[in-house]
Amino acid sequence: MRAMMGMSAIGDAAGMRVLDAQLRSADGVAVLRHVMNICGLLFLWQVFFRCCPPWLLNGWSVSLVAVSLASLLLDRPRKRAGSEDLSAADLWRHAVGALLHGSVWAVCMALISHSGDTEQLVALWTLISCVMVCGAISYAAVPLSAIAFLLPCIAGLFAMFHAGGELPLRALSSSYALSLLGGCLIYAHTFGRQHSATAQLVEKTEVVSLLLREYEAGGSDWLWQTDAMRQLTGVSARLAEMLGRTPAQLEGASLVQLLAGSGWESGRFAAGLRSLAEHLKQRESFSNLVLPVEVQGQWRWWELSASPRHDEQGVFQGFRGVGSDVTAQRESADKIAQLARFDPLTGLPNRSHLREALDHALEAAHGRSPGCAYLMIDLDRFKAVNDTLGHQIGDKLLSQVARRLLTVCTGDDFCGRIGGDEFAVVMPRISDGVAVPRLASAIITALSAPYQVDQHILHVGASVGSALSPADGQEAEALIRSADLALYRAKGEGGGLHCAYEPQLHAQAEERRQLELALREALEKDQLHILYQPVVDAGEERIVGFEALVRWTHPEMGPISPVRFIPVAEEARLIGPIGEWVLRTACREAANWPDAVRIAVNVSAEQLAHPSFVAAVVSALAQSGLESSRLELEVTESVFMTDDAGALRVLDQLLALGIQLSLDDFGTGYSSLGYLSRTRFNTIKIDRSFVVGASRNTAESLAIIRAVVTLADSLGMATTAEGVETQAELDMVRRLGCQKVQGYYFGRPMPAGDAARLFPTTVQRAIG
Ligand code: C2E
Ligand code: CA
Ligand code: CA
Repeated sequence: MRAMMGMSAIGDAAGMRVLDAQLRSADGVAVLRHVMNICGLLFLWQVFFRCCPPWLLNGWSVSLVAVSLASLLLDRPRKRAGSEDLSAADLWRHAVGALLHGSVWAVCMALISHSGDTEQLVALWTLISCVMVCGAISYAAVPLSAIAFLLPCIAGLFAMFHAGGELPLRALSSSYALSLLGGCLIYAHTFGRQHSATAQLVEKTEVVSLLLREYEAGGSDWLWQTDAMRQLTGVSARLAEMLGRTPAQLEGASLVQLLAGSGWESGRFAAGLRSLAEHLKQRESFSNLVLPVEVQGQWRWWELSASPRHDEQGVFQGFRGVGSDVTAQRESADKIAQLARFDPLTGLPNRSHLREALDHALEAAHGRSPGCAYLMIDLDRFKAVNDTLGHQIGDKLLSQVARRLLTVCTGDDFCGRIGGDEFAVVMPRISDGVAVPRLASAIITALSAPYQVDQHILHVGASVGSALSPADGQEAEALIRSADLALYRAKGEGGGLHCAYEPQLHAQAEERRQLELALREALEKDQLHILYQPVVDAGEERIVGFEALVRWTHPEMGPISPVRFIPVAEEARLIGPIGEWVLRTACREAANWPDAVRIAVNVSAEQLAHPSFVAAVVSALAQSGLESSRLELEVTESVFMTDDAGALRVLDQLLALGIQLSLDDFGTGYSSLGYLSRTRFNTIKIDRSFVVGASRNTAESLAIIRAVVTLADSLGMATTAEGVETQAELDMVRRLGCQKVQGYYFGRPMPAGDAARLFPTTVQRAIG
């Protein structure tokens, strides 16, 4: 109000706008004032023409015209300058005009009123009240001018009624003038408030649109808006530019149709677009929705966010949101994803990429039988290469394997590396019944040919397991598992071959799993025990030792053969604790036997590979007090299969401790005479199959036993014939030169008590 009264400077643009509105409003009704002045002048002449001295009437008329012209002149500079340069001075000038205007009428009241009688006075009062109302109306928006006009008028009224000395008339006329003044001030106040609110709103809108313009111009982002029919409205120049059109072309276009581009006709929408359409339909807000958009034949990636807008009544008006072109970010993300899909070493698709290919193949083969095939490939003896020649050579070998695999897998076949030395192939189509075995054998042949890596010639083989959809699994997960089981079988059968999945593999795997669970429990609940089988000197028929053989009696399943549960224990990493328990128990038992009697304990390859194995042996000997020379550890050739350098080192350590070593089941495995020359085995155990063969006079069995005995003799080793059941077999192995015999003929595996009873003196000594 102070600013409106010209009493303080105009501080801001909003104040300026209010001032402009005030003066404009006054200018708008100024004509009323001028018309009133002319009418008033004519009326005055008519009423006072006869009674008033002409000089007074003439003089006053001239002053009225002069005042009117003066007020026009006073406002001229303001009107010329325009609304931008308004100041409080303009307000004051306007007020001066009003003051002159009020004053000239006050002079009229003070001087001319006294020229007539009561009748004329009444006429003048009527005229004055009209002049005051018109003046008040025309100055109402500018309170300073309203005051400047009305105050002289009030003074004039006083003077007009002064002569009559009538107090009530004076009071009435002044209160009339004061209420006009009050009305003007109230109006001015309301006017000011209204206009300052409007001015602030205008300012805010300007700021917002300025910010939005800057937002659009400055970044890659733009604003968009739809109506309730999901059609674009108020299309910004930036959005139009992004779509390569003009705003007019886009106005009213369906947003979804526009973004679908050529896909609109075919109805094939990208997932992002489907999601957008769904959100628009549901009238839900969404953020960072990424979708492909075809712009002038080029595909771009857009990211959109928006929320629904409603009017004051809550009626849905459409959507308003922002958009940005994220093609660049998206492409770099795609590139990273691409890198993440390939194995860096071999360049082949990696596990997750393979999995995707399998998913696609399964989807495409849906309902077809046979659908697609999944082949899993594992290299045989790769670990040995890696361990003996180092990872660098191993890596180079894997790269060569990958190259060979690529040459074998042609057409649709999709190969990749799962990890380590495992690879896989997805066959999306199977042309005929032998397509899978044909590819599998081609892979085995290709991968088994010798490799040249640096100066080394390497021989590794390959095992393949395959599974077919839908018979061996309808889902990727199931198919992979089936192929894995088939591969396990192929490896179990010695490698270098292909096994197709069969339902019983699954049953076997399930049985293995059950057995593993039961075995864990057996270990906790002491369900294991040991039987001891005598080993006899072939010549003197004297007991020279016992072999400790572990037994498991399950409370429900009954006795379970070690032939069944030892492989499970090896795979489940349970052989460590089981083997150690056998070792400790057997050593403790053997410590009660005569000094000449040895105890033989079987050791698995997995046990031997464990870093703490030698320490466990030392501890078992120390705890039992058994002489190390009385402990004999039986290993099979399989210990050399995985890591022969490591195995040789451990065996040497055991020998250094004075422990005896025997090579078990000789002739059944990968028999390489090389091992015999590298390790000082004390005994070679000839497998029962040769003993049976020889007793039936099979030439090969006889030849093998003869050769082994000769070799053992020349290397200073003893031989033990296993599984001798009859007198005839005993005679035969004796003739062939075996020094020791083990078998049912001399005794079945027996409990510790029975074994101890075979040495009466020892037992008596123990009891005594
Ligand atoms: P192995 O070391 O070759 O043990 C000899 C197997 O031949 C034993 O079978 C024994 O009962 C059996 N046998 C002995 N004499 C005769 C005979 O005259 N006729 C016939 N038909 N069989 C005979 P068992 O006890 O079932 O053990 C089987 C295999 O389980 C063992 O073969 C050994 O490889 C493994 N094993 C047993 N106990 C342990 C152990 O504590 N640790 C480890 N790692 N393996 C063990
Ligand atoms: Ca054995
Ligand atoms: Ca054996």
